[in-house]
Amino acid sequence: MFGIWGHPKAAEITYYGLHALQHRGQDGAGIAITDGERLRVHKDIGLVNDVFDKANFDNLKGHAAIGHVRNSTQDDGIFDNVQPLVFRSLEESLAIAHNGSIMNAEKIRRNLEDTGSIFQTTSDSEVLAHLMKRNFASSTENAIINGLINIVGAYGFVILTEKRMYVALDPRGIRPLSIGKLGDAFVVASETCAFDIIGAEFEREVQPGGLLTIDDSGIVSTKFLEKEPRKLCAMEYVYFSRPDSNLNETNVHTARKRMGIELGKEFPVDADVVTGIPDSSISAAIGYAEECGIPYEMGVIKNRYTGRTFIQPSQELRDQGVKMKLSPVRGVIEGKKVVMIDDSIVRGTTVRRIVRLLKEAGAKEVHVRISSPRIENPCFYGIDMSTKKELIAANHTNEEIADIVEADSVEFLSYEGMQEAIVTGEETIDRGICAACMTGKYPVLDASNQN
Ligand code: SF4
Repeated sequence: MFGIWGHPKAAEITYYGLHALQHRGQDGAGIAITDGERLRVHKDIGLVNDVFDKANFDNLKGHAAIGHVRNSTQDDGIFDNVQPLVFRSLEESLAIAHNGSIMNAEKIRRNLEDTGSIFQTTSDSEVLAHLMKRNFASSTENAIINGLINIVGAYGFVILTEKRMYVALDPRGIRPLSIGKLGDAFVVASETCAFDIIGAEFEREVQPGGLLTIDDSGIVSTKFLEKEPRKLCAMEYVYFSRPDSNLNETNVHTARKRMGIELGKEFPVDADVVTGIPDSSISAAIGYAEECGIPYEMGVIKNRYTGRTFIQPSQELRDQGVKMKLSPVRGVIEGKKVVMIDDSIVRGTTVRRIVRLLKEAGAKEVHVRISSPRIENPCFYGIDMSTKKELIAANHTNEEIADIVEADSVEFLSYEGMQEAIVTGEETIDRGICAACMTGKYPVLDASNQN
């Protein structure tokens, strides 16, 4: 998500911000903009570059905008679900961008439909708009609060009306969300790399449980729910975020490198070269190589013009994606004992293909070292790992996984090692991580247990 308030080129700036966030979703992109009187939106299925061309910006004039890149977590990559979602009413229009997952969305939706609501999309994000309308209060801000307090899950919201922008984060801050300044304009983004690309200065993280109201008079902060101990998604550090982003004051590359160092301490190998799967595993591979005193080499290269494998929706596409994306560097690999660092194993198909590529390129041995713990549990907070059945580590030992992926050995970083790499020091109310997919300890319970 990206948002900007108070800039004459709001749509263009949002376009560049979305570009920097493209890795977070490739299924759709959209921008909603206000000129103070009217809210306009342009969105479509596809990459940011495919969705927007110069002509679009002639129709997107205004001083404030929000944008979204979509990663469809289920088979819902349909146009209606591309965000921002826009709702029109006599009082005001509303554009909503959402990152995360609303666990009790189905239950809320059923209640609303039973009492007359008609939904436009299958997206869980739409329930907030309906809750706002149902619980309409003296102000839009209070309507948002009335909606948010009914929602359970992981969420960051950026909401635009004709007159204001609103920013909200769930009480545990499971998803990242930061505020910055670009001259006099306020900017908000899921990752700080979006600030760097537009030349904005990072100001601070959005406080968990906080709602920000932004207009020409500045920012007003309200607490809509008590802040809980921070549970920032560990997979943001492991895989999702860009290495140049800072999350909760920790640089992602630095955390990944530390994960590699911890992995090297826990599971060293007598090998000739260390290589990392581009791009998200390179930082950890550098750390591992440094710790073990083995040269780091670029053993696999990536074709830059294809999407990321993990977040493409179907298995068939994932399989195709790997073939198109990665190539071994024979001169580096041939005749060598190779340590291959990957950031995580979800289904195991990607790692198997890469081990095969390395062996076909002449590697004598391939030892797989994973710079995060075993993923044994589904994620209910917006990351596409929805059933235990699909998770290879939920169903197999390390030795079995080594056989399945055709590697000489497979080991995973311990939870303690990962936590040490991310949190560096004592965990406090502001500095904690969610690692439920690894540990099974869910920071937010299923909605049916809560209501
Ligand atoms: S369960 Fe895993 S993927 Fe989901 S939010 Fe927690 S750490 Fe992130």
